[in-house]
Amino acid sequence: MTERLYYEDSYLTRFNAKVAIGGTEVVLDRTAFYPTSGGQPNDLGRLGEAAVLDVIDDEERGIVHAVDRPLEAGSIVAGEIDWRRRFDHMQQHTGQHLLSAVFHDLFGWATLSFHLGAEISTIDLSTAAAKQEEIEKAEREANSRITANLPVRVAYEQAGAVEGLRKASDRSGELRVVTIEGLDRSACGGTHVKATGEIGCLFIRKMDKVRGAARVEFVCGGRAVARARADYNALAAAARHFSAALDETPALVAGLIEQAKESEKARKKLALELAAVRGREAYAATAPGPGGVRVIVERAAALDEELRAFAQSFTAQGGARLIAVCAQPPSVLYAVSEGEAPAGTRLKPVLDSLGGKGGGNARLAQGSLPDAAAAERAVEALLT
Ligand SMILES: [Zn+2]
Repeated sequence: MTERLYYEDSYLTRFNAKVAIGGTEVVLDRTAFYPTSGGQPNDLGRLGEAAVLDVIDDEERGIVHAVDRPLEAGSIVAGEIDWRRRFDHMQQHTGQHLLSAVFHDLFGWATLSFHLGAEISTIDLSTAAAKQEEIEKAEREANSRITANLPVRVAYEQAGAVEGLRKASDRSGELRVVTIEGLDRSACGGTHVKATGEIGCLFIRKMDKVRGAARVEFVCGGRAVARARADYNALAAAARHFSAALDETPALVAGLIEQAKESEKARKKLALELAAVRGREAYAATAPGPGGVRVIVERAAALDEELRAFAQSFTAQGGARLIAVCAQPPSVLYAVSEGEAPAGTRLKPVLDSLGGKGGGNARLAQGSLPDAAAAERAVEALLT
């Protein structure tokens, strides 16, 4: 099986190894490449001229390096780890041990699972929900433990004799125990920094409820700085619109939303009043047809509240009928003055004959049709 160099030294970035299985799925006699496991993603880097695309912990073969060009069995290759990526993973992963321990110590919550993502990491905690003040308390505590620069040590202990693990291990035989001095002992095969100060800082973002657990998002070290930079830029861009200080911006946004709602209400009211005026004007401008009835056909973009206000206003005076048609969605509206044949009764058979549906009352009725051509035929039928 492959000798795992990262177990002994997570800071090792260059090594030489012999190719035990060649091709594009390479197994070495020893490797510093970390394979995806325990919530931590694999390393990337190079093996000689080949780029390492993926690293898998294979039960039968050992650690398998997927590479972009074949390597020859028996040859010696120089391996190099992408250190930026690895160190980022070490910061997030050690930060997870620390944060899990802090949540456990402060509130008794166990960590059910851990995921280290490309931009954020999450832990699922054994509580239905964490309060904002609990989150902030844990964040403060985690950062004070980072500032204390507690040593992080790796030791091998027998599963039967091991004591003080935060979470019992179901493995047998020898366990790799990672200890944060005075804070946490966990069985773990991942890569960690050698003292908590190297985590840099820890910042908790949002909390979601997921299947009865509280999922907490967090970022550590370089990620926390990059995230804070992006957050600052976003907030500063919003603040510039108000020529205001960053801290005042949320209240200004809330005020603006309230104002927009009020404006929309006023606009709607005015639009309905305008539609009513237009209805009266249209009535005045339409000459009565045979039988003294004023009939107009409106082609509308939508059969909405404004159109209905227009139709009601047009037919509020005696002897008037209004037909409105909309192409998309295909639909018709029919409104009549008091004393005319009831709108609903008149429209219903027209809709039935054209495969449409809808209805209404004596003064106003509305229906949908299968397509625009059917809507036009409904207009013709209502005009006869
Ligand atoms: Zn770990």
